[in-house]
Amino acid sequence: MDYIGPQEILLKKHNYQIPCSAHFFNNPPQLTRAKMQYYYDDFNGKKYLDFFAGVSVMNCGHSNDEIIEATINQMKTLQHTTTIYLTQPIVDLAEELSKVLPGDLNKSFFCLSGSEANEGAMLLAKLYTGRNEFIYLDGGLHGRTHLTMSVNGIDMWRTSPTIEPGTHRATSFYPDVVNNKFDKEHTMNESLSSIEKILIERKDKIAALIIEPIQGNGGILTPYPSYFKKLQSLLKEHSTLLIADEVQTGFARTGKMFAIENFGITPDIMSMAKALGNGQPISAFSTTDKIADSFTKPSASTLGGNPVSSAAALAVLNYIEKHALQEHAKKMGDYLHIGLQYLKDQHEIIRDIRGYGLMQGAELVEGVHPAGKKVDDVLESMKDKGILIGKNGIHRNVLAFQPPLIITKDDIDVVINTLDTVL
Ligand code: PMP
Repeated sequence: MDYIGPQEILLKKHNYQIPCSAHFFNNPPQLTRAKMQYYYDDFNGKKYLDFFAGVSVMNCGHSNDEIIEATINQMKTLQHTTTIYLTQPIVDLAEELSKVLPGDLNKSFFCLSGSEANEGAMLLAKLYTGRNEFIYLDGGLHGRTHLTMSVNGIDMWRTSPTIEPGTHRATSFYPDVVNNKFDKEHTMNESLSSIEKILIERKDKIAALIIEPIQGNGGILTPYPSYFKKLQSLLKEHSTLLIADEVQTGFARTGKMFAIENFGITPDIMSMAKALGNGQPISAFSTTDKIADSFTKPSASTLGGNPVSSAAALAVLNYIEKHALQEHAKKMGDYLHIGLQYLKDQHEIIRDIRGYGLMQGAELVEGVHPAGKKVDDVLESMKDKGILIGKNGIHRNVLAFQPPLIITKDDIDVVINTLDTVL
């Protein structure tokens, strides 16, 4: 194949795409193919180690043979019908998912994107509770539909000039460097009190609180260990549901199948997307039998859980179990964390290392100022040396390490050594 190269891609992007989608790098490469943890740029003959996995999507690796084979077989046999006809992959997937979901989460609805899953999860919470309002946290991100955007706690992702009424923002569970707050336990208590205040002020009106167990876009922000247990009992006192958004954290990334399992609770509703399809567009929200029974009005997502994406997702669940990816992510994540801690000791610019499993962040600061520009410089230099890492954070100053879960110790050594040089 003849590749047009980055300059022409940028030109076409400028001429034909709506200008809202940004890309990383001053000098971006054209990625032409990928296999497991590597991307290839055949235009310039370069190979890259992928440490961002298309934002936590390719947990099982790019073009993973086992998953691709199951997907292609299904594509050749029965591609699409929609849910008005009976097919097997979607029910097999619902059954297999119920086996890996925590606690009594048992029933699922399939759709296409993380935003659609969260929108559905919030609708379900309204139907079950008969209430219409929501609480969300500073630093959270839940989607780009009108309602999910209204519960984004990161201002750059609240694009619409108007927001949905009845959405209430509570304090984050993680200390923000800009406010010079460093005490994690104190921040947890502040977060819980701000939630309680809203629950009291909006008595009997709040359907649910939506939250990421680890805030990905917010900068890989991790809660104080006892936060979720306290949060759950507070919400129960007010008959308010807990929606865990596992869109970015799900499917073995954090060393558990779902990140919320690191904190010892089961939410009332869970949403998931990204890694469920390992590149196929599929998402879901899942809940208990009791809550599910409140959703009987008709609802349909034309392409949601179609035979091809369901077959891919089934192969994903199978691959995670067969290759023990939860254990591997934990082991590799701990190893990566140690490497990053070592770098923190060497380089003053790193304020904080945090994360679970293969979802790790390194926050860069200059004094108390977020070092967003430095993060961009680091990303560019790492790319030039053949490694693609990510960035996120409310102040865009956090290096994000979210590789495919099949990476090896050698890959991590390369990243740590290269990052040491670059820093
Ligand atoms: N929730 C979380 C936690 C996410 O990280 C994202 C996307 N980054 C979404 C929801 C929205 O997912 P999608 O882009 O698939 O709509």
